[in-house]
Amino acid sequence: MKRCSKCILPETYPGITFNHQGVCSLCENYMKTEYQGKEELLRVVDKLRNGDPYDCMVALSGGRDSTFVAYYAVNELKLNVLAVTIDNGFIPQQVRKNIKCTVERLGIDHQYFAHDHMKHTVKHIMRSWMHSPSPGMISLLCTGCTTGIMSGLVKAAQENKISAILGGGGDIVGSGGEPEASFAEGLMSLSANPRLRSLSIGLGFMREFFRNPRYLSNLRFSTTLLREFLYRFAFKLENHVQPIGLFEYIRWDEDEIMSVIQGKLGWKKPKDWQSSWRADCKIHLLKEYLYRETIGFTKNNELLSGMIREDMITREGALVRLEHDNKISSQFLADFLGQYEIELCEVDSALNRYKKTMTG
Ligand SMILES: [Zn+2]
Repeated sequence: MKRCSKCILPETYPGITFNHQGVCSLCENYMKTEYQGKEELLRVVDKLRNGDPYDCMVALSGGRDSTFVAYYAVNELKLNVLAVTIDNGFIPQQVRKNIKCTVERLGIDHQYFAHDHMKHTVKHIMRSWMHSPSPGMISLLCTGCTTGIMSGLVKAAQENKISAILGGGGDIVGSGGEPEASFAEGLMSLSANPRLRSLSIGLGFMREFFRNPRYLSNLRFSTTLLREFLYRFAFKLENHVQPIGLFEYIRWDEDEIMSVIQGKLGWKKPKDWQSSWRADCKIHLLKEYLYRETIGFTKNNELLSGMIREDMITREGALVRLEHDNKISSQFLADFLGQYEIELCEVDSALNRYKKTMTG
């Protein structure tokens, strides 16, 4: 598989082109992240101090970045925070332990806000997907998560009279800490014109549903999907509560994050995860598997490519890490799918059918 000579994105990446030196269009157009600085951040958060009962909320998923954000809010910004975890039902047990340990060591209050927008639809989505595998539809496994997160955060803010939420944001691999959005939308869009983004994605989904109408046969899924679209494209969190992205102000530094959360907060990677990234949701590993097997790359390729462009890792180092991080435990997949009465071999035979249609 052909890869960019600077980063590690392959030719299967949606919309990618290469110049005559083999450098990809994303590397060519990349502008290094500029941070607003800690002073500016302090200016923003100073306005929140003396909030009653809290200065602000920290959205704590239990992943490595949000755990670091909680630490930074307490120890560097000296904020009186409420940590809130939105529970979609797929948080690994180790991450629940990490969350408990983090809030205890930081001495902060913590609340879970659970939603059930996802757990009733996974089986239906997987069955529909296996009927006719399509890379663009892998993102459907997250249907309902944005709805649950946004509505949960707003509810938590209102109930606790909080006006601002501190999160990671400003992720080096994409806007708003959601690197997948870049390629998942690219897989679905019918047009590369950014002004037509919502329309183009909507039409892309309609084409997929026309090809595989089985998805829409489940009323619960269809209504969840409709709400998810409304939340993704019409709901604005900033109309309800002020979002602050820590990594728009200070440099995202993987080594420092890992050293702080492991050394000071007792954070541990769940055993089935090769990478410490995105440890907060089990669906993530299933999606990574489906992406790897259909388009030959995963979100790890994007993260590591972003780190190369920011001079945080060499291309050689990234390739070694990719080999390690893209391994996904078959036992984990079998156990996870087993809860939905799906066997891993059924998924694999669907993937083989897909690969045959692509090569033949
Ligand atoms: Zn590149």
